[in-house]
Amino acid sequence: MESREDGKWEPSKPFLQLLIASPRGFCAGVERAIRIVELALAKFGAPVYVRHEIVHNRFVVDRLKSLGAVFIDDLAQAPAGAHVIFSAHGVAKSVAEDATTRALAWIDATCPLVSKVHGEAEHHHRAGRQIVLIGHRGHPEVEGTLGQLPPDAITLIETAEDAARFTPRDPERIAFISQTTLSVDDTAEIVAVLRRRFPQIRGPRRDDICYATTNRQEALKRIAGQSDAVLVLGAPNSSNSVRLVEVALRAGARGAQLIQSAADIAWAKLRDARVIGLTAGASAPDYLIDGVIAALRSRYDVDIREAQNVREAVIFNVPRSVAS
Ligand code: SF4
Repeated sequence: MESREDGKWEPSKPFLQLLIASPRGFCAGVERAIRIVELALAKFGAPVYVRHEIVHNRFVVDRLKSLGAVFIDDLAQAPAGAHVIFSAHGVAKSVAEDATTRALAWIDATCPLVSKVHGEAEHHHRAGRQIVLIGHRGHPEVEGTLGQLPPDAITLIETAEDAARFTPRDPERIAFISQTTLSVDDTAEIVAVLRRRFPQIRGPRRDDICYATTNRQEALKRIAGQSDAVLVLGAPNSSNSVRLVEVALRAGARGAQLIQSAADIAWAKLRDARVIGLTAGASAPDYLIDGVIAALRSRYDVDIREAQNVREAVIFNVPRSVAS
């Protein structure tokens, strides 16, 4: 029991060690994409149309909706002459062509690190190489990368088993690229299979996984092994957030929950936890972390330790069409 300022007694809260991973949350590509929508709204006025969720987070999307952004799945939903923004995940070339045909003023918020992968694909294709894309089928980034080239130019593989089964047209003329938000460890395994089977394969030094995905996974590994449970803030359709849950469990956390906000915490699963790890995917805003800390404080006597792995100082410029 402990005394309150008004002199009444209340039960003391159980002690909780909270380990917060750093870096966590917004990456430079997400910050840039959100900024592009905000600047477009300020410059052109509402409505501004956004194809697909600009980043995979409903709180971000809802805030931009409240400012006048209209989210669409199909370009046909935007009237001719409207401003349309493509999401951070990138789009197939046919989408930009379709937008031009429909007389839409389109603005590309594709993360520059995704555009870099598109450039690698173009380069290998021009050099006559068959391309293997390591990624998850159906993810918008993968759809966008596949759509940079003709249909048979890129073969998608998802697992080490796929890599072991893959039969190239010419083993001397192949290259690999990858989605930017994969598991660093799983991808290394897939790349190792490809390099062992096809010593001539071309590709990036390790993979195309971006700095933000890598840093968030490495930072989480440092705290997950000491954590009874890990909370990962992120959306179920956010690839890098889902990977963080897998990373936590593999690194030794006894449990891991993917939550969109503090309201999603499964408290019953935290009953025996004395040490909780906390992180956030690259599309989760900081205030959601604050919300989780506040929710934990309401039930526990919380001591916070932040485990800083590396400092990030990456900033991407916005396109000139919205900059001025
Ligand atoms: S997660 Fe990586 S690739 Fe995706 S938007 Fe962020 S920096 Fe760009």
